[in-house]
Amino acid sequence: MKNVLSDKKKRISETMQDSMENNFFGSHIKELFDVLPVAIFVKDRNSKFLLMNKACEQQFGMSFTDLYGTDASQFFPPEQIKRFLSKDQEVFKGGRPVDFVEEFWNAKLQENRIGHTFKKPMFDAAGEPLYLICATIDITEKNLAEQNLRISEEKLRGLYELSPLGIALTDMNGNYVEFNDAFQQICGYSEDELRKLDYWTLTPKEYAEEEAVQLESLGKTGRYGPYEKTYRQKSGDMLPIRLNGMLVTGKDGQQYIWSIAEDISSRKQHEEQLNHIAHYDALTGIPNRVLLADRMKQAMAQTIREQNMLAVCYLDLDGFKPINDQFGHETGDHVLVEISRRIENTIRGGDTVARLGGDEFVVLLLGLERGNECVTTLERLLEAIAQPITIKGNVLFLSASIGVSIYPLDNEDVDTLLRHADQAMYAAKLSGKNRYYLHDAEQDQRTREHHVIRAHVKHGLLHEQLELYYQPKVEMRSKRLVGAEALIRWHHPERGLLPPAEFLKSIENTELDIEIGDWVIATALDQLRQWHLAGLDIEVSVNISAYHLESPRFVEKLRQQLSHYPDLPAGRFQIEVLETAALEDVAKVSKIIEACRSIGVGFALDDFGTGYSSLLYLSHLPVDTLKIDQSFIRGMLEDKGDRVIVQGIIALARAFERITVAEGIETDDHYEVLLDMGCDIGQGYVIARPMPAGNMLTWKGK
Ligand code: C2E
Ligand code: MG
Ligand code: MG
Repeated sequence: MKNVLSDKKKRISETMQDSMENNFFGSHIKELFDVLPVAIFVKDRNSKFLLMNKACEQQFGMSFTDLYGTDASQFFPPEQIKRFLSKDQEVFKGGRPVDFVEEFWNAKLQENRIGHTFKKPMFDAAGEPLYLICATIDITEKNLAEQNLRISEEKLRGLYELSPLGIALTDMNGNYVEFNDAFQQICGYSEDELRKLDYWTLTPKEYAEEEAVQLESLGKTGRYGPYEKTYRQKSGDMLPIRLNGMLVTGKDGQQYIWSIAEDISSRKQHEEQLNHIAHYDALTGIPNRVLLADRMKQAMAQTIREQNMLAVCYLDLDGFKPINDQFGHETGDHVLVEISRRIENTIRGGDTVARLGGDEFVVLLLGLERGNECVTTLERLLEAIAQPITIKGNVLFLSASIGVSIYPLDNEDVDTLLRHADQAMYAAKLSGKNRYYLHDAEQDQRTREHHVIRAHVKHGLLHEQLELYYQPKVEMRSKRLVGAEALIRWHHPERGLLPPAEFLKSIENTELDIEIGDWVIATALDQLRQWHLAGLDIEVSVNISAYHLESPRFVEKLRQQLSHYPDLPAGRFQIEVLETAALEDVAKVSKIIEACRSIGVGFALDDFGTGYSSLLYLSHLPVDTLKIDQSFIRGMLEDKGDRVIVQGIIALARAFERITVAEGIETDDHYEVLLDMGCDIGQGYVIARPMPAGNMLTWKGK
């Protein structure tokens, strides 16, 4: 066997030598033959291998030694052999060189490869087939790459054609060169039309500035967008789109722009819907509180520009709740829709109606020349709302209360204007409904001043700036000191000593009124005890407001305070309450007075005569003392009427067994007359002015 093989090798080398040197290429070409990267081989007329180079051995994965002299049928798969043999015969028959793509087996790789094969038949002088000269280039990889490229190109093409995004190629002048179906749809133009158009036809003028920015970016970075704009469609409609793109160089070396246009109309629509939900009332479709605030700000600016006025009308339905309760929410909803429609129909185009929620609306009336110009509209609104509403056979009656603040008479911000209008609406409700009420800016200013003063008084109370002065009361006949009235003073850090008229009004009917009253009682009681310890056995009276007197726990707190002074003789502490205040709720005040008397506290009706108490009331009020108002005392010498009143009060008091105190006695003449009239006790400048507590002990009397 070994011998046979070496024999074969020897023959091969001889043949090759022989062939190279004599028959085929000549001796110096052999090296070239072997370094050529192309597989070259020669077969005889029966397809037996006669010659092959190194590249060929590699390509087939077989050695020439094995193939020499065979038709390779033992190496190549049978169906390939069949194809090779018949192809070879075909080539001989054709007599001309051919090239084709074929599959061949690589024994080393154990796989089929693709080759681009060239075959040229050679004939002898008689025209008989002699050899086949063959070359094969392995194109497996190239083929695969081409195939892949084809696939990805197809894919891209598919994407381009099927994409819902509009894709277009334009030249640098904006002329459309190429575009997909989606792009045509976005523009609404046919292919032919689009080819004659350019980018600028689709772009509305207002984007000129933005386009310049995008072009600059394209020039600098090779890209532009994404940005949002609209396209003018063929129909003239404006379509919102999102655009971006990039610069490319074409095969012709020119620059082009690929652009992607996305139709964002549904997103915009959705945004608009959300916007609508955020700014409009779902039930009635009119602006809500958020949009109202916006509109108000704009309207206020406009009002200042045009130098006119704006009315902010806060409207609340009267009688809506009972309708809702009785007929159900559905009916209630109908009512609200109907009312908003009526309001809309009553106001002018530039005016706004908004719903704040529930049955509350706000109407903005713009462009008023005078503040009261809105009155006609308000009356029409009231009238429109008061018309009966028929829903499901039920005839419903409603009305509205409207509060109005006028800007810039009321020179405030949005919230404050609304609050003022709301307060005025509340006043309209209180004064009988189905009416409007204009907010009074001056009144408001006063309220605010009260606020400030209140804060300062509170500070004063906490920092011991308050003091009680005492004004002596004497028995008229004997001129003996019998008591003192405690009168509050405020040592204001800047304004000096202030009388109560300067600050008590501001705390009327507030919690501070009660706090100060409590302080007055405590201070006066303490003073009373000190004087008693010092041997000054007098009575002390304090002024208490009706609000404080009627506040919860008044009697209880008083009892507690008194309990700190068990040694004080009874009947030394008196409360003065204004006659006018006591008359407001005689029954209630009587009870409180009664309760106070039961713990040893006396009562005086202050400024008596100003309230015109009837005898009946007086008999019901269990007070010990009547303090004749100083206005009558002052006038009685000149005015007969005043004198009659003073006389009458003294007689009345005597009949009801009450003590009379005349206050505001300024002259000796007054004193004498009152003494003659039988007045029990006197108080006034002619006797003594109110003084600090410390001065009382050294006061010498009248
Ligand atoms: P009132 O209770 O009628 O007190 C008498 C007022 O007349 C005091 O004024 C007193 O100074 C003044 N007066 C006394 N004699 C004369 C006189 O001969 N001529 C004139 N022209 N005036 C005289 P005042 O202290 O300014 O107090 C004013 C009012 O303030 C009091 O009237 C009382 O209603 C109230 N007030 C005073 N202190 C308090 C307090 O502590 N609490 C409360 N709630 N009210 C007080
Ligand atoms: Mg008094
Ligand atoms: Mg008085």
